Parts: sequence; structure tokens; C-alpha cells
Amino acid sequence: MSDIKSLNLTELQEEICTLGEKSFRARQIYEWMHKKLCESFSEMTNLSQSFREKLSGSFELTTLKMVCVQTSQIDGTKKFLFELPDKNSIESVWMRYKHGNSVCISSQVGCRMGCRFCASTIDGMVRCLSASEMLDQVYAIQRITRERVSNVVVMGSGEPLDNYDNVLKFIHLLSDENGLHISQRNITVSTCGLVPEIRRLANEKLQITLAVSLHASSNEKRRELMPIAKKYGLSELMEACRFYYEQTGRRLTFEYSLVGGVNDTAEDAAGLSRLLRGLHAHVNLIPVNPVKERSYTPSDKDTVQNFKNKLEKNGVNVTVRREMGRDIDGACGQLRRRYHENAESQ
Ligand code: SAH
Repeated sequence: MSDIKSLNLTELQEEICTLGEKSFRARQIYEWMHKKLCESFSEMTNLSQSFREKLSGSFELTTLKMVCVQTSQIDGTKKFLFELPDKNSIESVWMRYKHGNSVCISSQVGCRMGCRFCASTIDGMVRCLSASEMLDQVYAIQRITRERVSNVVVMGSGEPLDNYDNVLKFIHLLSDENGLHISQRNITVSTCGLVPEIRRLANEKLQITLAVSLHASSNEKRRELMPIAKKYGLSELMEACRFYYEQTGRRLTFEYSLVGGVNDTAEDAAGLSRLLRGLHAHVNLIPVNPVKERSYTPSDKDTVQNFKNKLEKNGVNVTVRREMGRDIDGACGQLRRRYHENAESQ
């Protein structure tokens, strides 16, 4: 059965006409799904009973089941574990900032990129998420919290550019004026650095923010932390980033997780400054979140501060990311792993 929530309005209009119904019905259904965030055809009360039955016979309407939610006592961050229709589970996070509410979504079940410090990738990738399953995370959270979501970051489990077509559809649906209408400027997609896909994305001319996970300023160190660096070297990656900036006019964000004794020296900071010269980029420093399956530890406070100062001295725009939800398995993929471990040991 086809996945109705992943269709754009034009595609939905075609499908509805094929069913022998008037095309204005498509707009009504679209609004039920993407504006009123309803979860079943039976809620679409301005459609006749027989039409609703026809819809359930022809289309699947995806929804998520909330398995658990953890709320941080420190900052109110909520981490959700959702079950997908095929029983796989994914994590999403809700964070409240001064400028609005932000949701961090997963783009795949698991991940196949293999970054050494990340919990999402430990058991590899199970499957990609559809556009509707990415929307469902935002919609479910907005319904549960009863507060408008104003920012969305695709920074949960998975590599979004390894699920390119669905992520692109997701961005278009999420920013569509007939849906939640979240501005593309408030959508961030984070990638470990898939060079051909960064170039392809640059040509879509979107207004989203692209975040690139760098984590090292030399090929040697980057290869140790991120296997993808063996496929694409830093010069190739930075060239693709420059191309993205030229094509879209959007400044990039670079993520740099500070790992104690691994990538946090003054030399590393100098290397990073050189790499970013002329890019007008923004750097987010994040002390690595320790994952119990991995031996990495975060850099200490002074080291983080020194690293930041060094970048600033070199004219790099930098912030130390506020750690949200550290008491609730904040790092990618940790909640899902812990939940499955507990389920298995029972
Ligand atoms: N695959 C994408 C998006 C998901 S990860 C990417 O690589 O960018 C989102 C960010 O969190 C990435 O920068 C990732 O490297 C980082 N990350 C993953 N696990 C982490 C950990 N344990 N501590 C700190 N940052 C982590």
C-alpha cells in the first residue's frame, strides 16, 4: 500500500483523482495529515464514511507508538523512544531554547557510517526511514508536548545523506505552507561528510543549514575517528563545503566533538582554523558524550576553553554546545540501545 503521508500535494491530487474523487479533497486530506496532525482516516470528519474506507483500503497512514519518554531534571529536554509500524524503534529529542522548541530526529534505524564514538552505529544500519516516518517524529512530539515546534535538526541516529531522496522529500513537506510550514532556515541537516551528496544538495538550492561533522583537522586523525574519512579526504570535503556555500549562500556549521587526548590540542585548534579559513563558518564544539561501549572520554573544561579561545583568536566563529539532557542518555542512539538491552535481559 502506498504511503500517503510521504506524497506532496500534487502527487496526492493525482492519486485522489485516480480514485475517482474530486481533487479539492486532496487538500483537505493533506491538511488533516500535515496541519492538524491526525493519526487515522477516521478523524477526517469532513470526508464521507465511504471515502474514508476507500482511503484506508488504498493507503497506509504511518503513525508512531510512544514506547517511553525521559525528561531531563536539569533542562527539561525530553527524549522519546518511538516504535515504527514494523516494530523497529527510533529515538527523537525535544529541546526548549529561548528562541523556540527544537526537535532532533532520526533519519535511519541504526547507521552504517561506523564513527568510533557514536552509539547509533554499533549494530549497523537496519533500514532508512521514509519521509512520513521522519515527519511523524515531529508531529508526534508537537501533539504530545502541545507546543509548536519551530526548529528541526536531522541529527539523531542515521546518516541523512545516506537516505537522500527521503530526507529531501521530508524537508519539502516540513517546510510546505500547507503543512507545519517550518521555515527551511530553521531546519538543519547534519552529515558525516558524504562528498557527492553534499554537492548534490548544494544544487537543490535549499535554505536549510548544513552541518558537517568534522571532529579532526588532519586526515590521519579523522580516519581514526570516522571511517568515512578513508573514502573522502579533507581537501575534497572542504571543497564540497565551499561549493555548498557558493551555491546556496548559506553558512555552514561544523561540528567538532572534543575527545580527551585525541583531537583537543592547540595544534588541532590551529589546524581547524586553517581548514576553515575564508569559509565564514560556525563551529560547534561538543565535549564527547561518553558511550559505555566505547573508551573515549570528554576533554576537560580548561582544554575545551583553551581550544575555543584559540579558534576565536584565529577569527573563527565558535560556540561550545550547551549539553542538553546529559542525565537522560543524551547522545545519539544511547536510549534505544539501553532499552533493547533491558528488554533482552528480562
Ligand atoms: N550522521 C550525521 C548525523 C547524526 S550524528 C552526522 O554524522 O553528522 C549528530 C552529531 O553527533 C554528529 O556530529 C556526530 O558525530 C555527533 N556524535 C555522535 N555520537 C556522539 C557522542 N557520543 N558524543 C558527541 N558527539 C557525538
